[in-house]
Amino acid sequence: MFQKILVAVDDSPAAQKAVNYAAQLAKLTNAQILIVHAYPKIPDYLGEPNLSQTIARYLEKAEELIEPVATQLQEAGLDVIPEILEGPPADAILRVADARNVDLIVMGARGLGSVASLLLGSVSQKVLAHATCPVMIVRES
Ligand code: ATP
Ligand code: MG
Repeated sequence: MFQKILVAVDDSPAAQKAVNYAAQLAKLTNAQILIVHAYPKIPDYLGEPNLSQTIARYLEKAEELIEPVATQLQEAGLDVIPEILEGPPADAILRVADARNVDLIVMGARGLGSVASLLLGSVSQKVLAHATCPVMIVRES
């Protein structure tokens, strides 16, 4: 049923929970898992060497975020593809989902954003509204 499952991570408890669900589903269906993290696009006007330094820092943080997740999933015997992308997270998630023909997107309801009264963060709202495949939204508690 699922051959490719995308899980979107941002270092929030809800995203970690989403990873656990994605892992269980992938195990059951023998699916491959794409771990996706997007970092912000840095404006060109920053100039060099600031531009490269800022990108390097974002990439480093993204790798620190993805690596433990990839290890967790690999240790569970899963086939994992890490994807670090630049740009607004929802656009990045939708773009990879399309390009890689993903069958399911798993993500948290909320991330690390500050508007705690909202039921869904802006990233999950946008992905839910525009995804062409099923989306599973996981709440922290
Ligand atoms: P907002 O960002 O609108 O203030 P929020 O941070 O509470 O709200 P979202 O950002 O929508 O909520 O996060 C919901 C889920 O979206 C996260 O649990 C995670 O699965 C995914 N997500 C958020 N940001 C990223 C990102 N930069 N890269 C990959 N996935 C992300
Ligand atoms: Mg957020």
